Amino acid sequence: MERIVGTWFPVVMLMLMMLGSGQAGALELVEVDDERELDLSADMRWVADPNSELSAQSLLQAPGEPDWQTTNGRILNLGLESAPVWMGVWLKSSSEIDRYLQIGYPPLDDVRIQLLRAIDGETVTEVHTGDTLPFSSRPIAHHDFVSRLTLAPDTRYLLLIRIQTEGALQAPVRLWEPEAFLRDTQVSSALHMMFFGIMGALAIYNLLLYFAVRDGAYLWYVLYLLAFVLSQAALRGFGFQYLWPGAPWFNGISLTVLLSLSLAAVGFFTHQFLNAPRHSRLWSIIFRAIGWSGIALAIISVLVPYHIAIALMLGVVSSEAVLALVGACYLWWRGEVLARFYVIAWGIFLFANIAYTVSKTGVIPTNMLVDHGTQIGAVIQMLLLSFALAWRINQEREQRQQAQAEALRVQQDANLKLEARVEERTEELRHAYDQLKQLSELDGLTQLKNRPYFDQALEREWRRSCRETHTMSLLMLDIDHFKAVNDDYGHLCGDDALRRIAAICEEGVGRVADTVARYGGEEFVILLPMTDLGGATLLAERIREAAASVEFEWEGNPIALSVSIGLACCIPDCQRDHEWLIRTADEALYQAKTRGRNRTVVARQNADGGIDMLTPESLQASADGSSPSA
Ligand code: GH3
Ligand code: MG
Ligand code: MG
Repeated sequence: MERIVGTWFPVVMLMLMMLGSGQAGALELVEVDDERELDLSADMRWVADPNSELSAQSLLQAPGEPDWQTTNGRILNLGLESAPVWMGVWLKSSSEIDRYLQIGYPPLDDVRIQLLRAIDGETVTEVHTGDTLPFSSRPIAHHDFVSRLTLAPDTRYLLLIRIQTEGALQAPVRLWEPEAFLRDTQVSSALHMMFFGIMGALAIYNLLLYFAVRDGAYLWYVLYLLAFVLSQAALRGFGFQYLWPGAPWFNGISLTVLLSLSLAAVGFFTHQFLNAPRHSRLWSIIFRAIGWSGIALAIISVLVPYHIAIALMLGVVSSEAVLALVGACYLWWRGEVLARFYVIAWGIFLFANIAYTVSKTGVIPTNMLVDHGTQIGAVIQMLLLSFALAWRINQEREQRQQAQAEALRVQQDANLKLEARVEERTEELRHAYDQLKQLSELDGLTQLKNRPYFDQALEREWRRSCRETHTMSLLMLDIDHFKAVNDDYGHLCGDDALRRIAAICEEGVGRVADTVARYGGEEFVILLPMTDLGGATLLAERIREAAASVEFEWEGNPIALSVSIGLACCIPDCQRDHEWLIRTADEALYQAKTRGRNRTVVARQNADGGIDMLTPESLQASADGSSPSA
């Protein structure tokens, strides 16, 4: 445990290393009696043996010779000490007893335990163990190094433990009464298995979630969790005991490789989980760099000697763990909600580790909670992160919904604008159409309605008058001797005369329903719905007189103008064609021309069904108020 704390906190580790050595002194004698659990850590002395000159026998013969150091009442902790170290203590008991000797730090490479009887120097117990030997070589299958000692009554023994290891050198040494040891092992194993069980369930659960939501953050979280839990299993000896008992070579690199991989996963997890690219380019790069440095460390761990790998770990992992926390704080400040969870989770984890480490220095008292600080801290961290991942999914869903609502709003806006433009364009088109239609109905020279318009209007009025049995009249006008005007004064003059007569016709009619049109050449028609013969004759005469009295001149020459008018009137009969009206009016016009021009001829049907051509005066005289019928 100390070692993993050391990996996160090299400074604290160094402090512990300094506390590890004390003044020189002779070996202590410990009376082993009824204590069920005896902590030998404070009583043992230690000496380094850099040249491997010492042996059990030489130490028994001259126990005062080497410069034994005390542990200052604490567990021996020498940091990264690679020279062999001997630990020694005298043991004595008043009765024959059985004890378990436990060295509670599983990553030690090579451990030799010897119990020598003082009186004759005989080795009564000799155990060679360590994590470089297969697990099956252990005398007692336990995740720590455990061996059985039997002490005869009133006999002095020298207990020597020689340790050589490439990693951190720590040696918590305890003597246990067998039953007490069994109970302690059960409790400690149960707690550890609970820890592994919780973490395992979290890993499986989140892996399934990854398959469901396909968010890479879940995968990195699961990888981090697995690598971290396995590194704990390696550190605590459970990995070697249960997972890779036949592979001491892997056991040797497991801790560094797994911690490196957990660092890698932390880097990539943080990068994705905190949406780093969205907030900061720099931190996005740093988090990814942490991830890649973890992968590089894992590879290096396999290639270089362990003591170099673990020293490298100390620097990289501890500094980058703090770096990740700083980055998360920054992203929190930048407004990333998820960074809150991250900082709290990571903070609790680091705090638990610090509490554990400090408790080992004796500054704060140890208790159950502090003692399992790393595990408890890790469980809380992982639970919080798992919760935060769920929060993240929720957050992303909300963001997606907001984006959808925004998109919908934009689309509705666009639709409204489009509709408005379509309406605008339709209005423009309608206007253009109206103008075009008007133009298509007009005669370009006189601005009266043209022949096609008149034809339609006549047909329409004919049908309506048919339905409603109304009288309708038609005037047909022709300018007299118009050819002469053209011949004498030119076509421009003729055009001007046409416009003057057109204006007179237009002014002559009073009703909106009346239609004045240019029929062709110098001929005009005036359609008068709901107008009888008398009314139409009056109108015809008024126009004729107006045309005859118009003062028209061209280039200073006065020109006399006059028109001849043919008039027809009828109550339209649906059986009959409207052509009849035109034909009859045309015949009347012809009569007007024949009778001398500048006059009106009225076509009236007589009792025999024939047509009389009358002048206005004779019409007046012959039958006052007699109404024609079609
Ligand atoms: P009348 O009707 O009295 O028998 O004699 P007229 O000279 O008017 O007879 P006619 O119908 O033969 O002549 C019509 C002339 O009208 C022929 C043509 O020169 C002229 N005319 C027709 N359309 C136009 C026009 O748009 N502009 C001009 N300047 N003259 C036109
Ligand atoms: Mg004519
Ligand atoms: Mg004419």
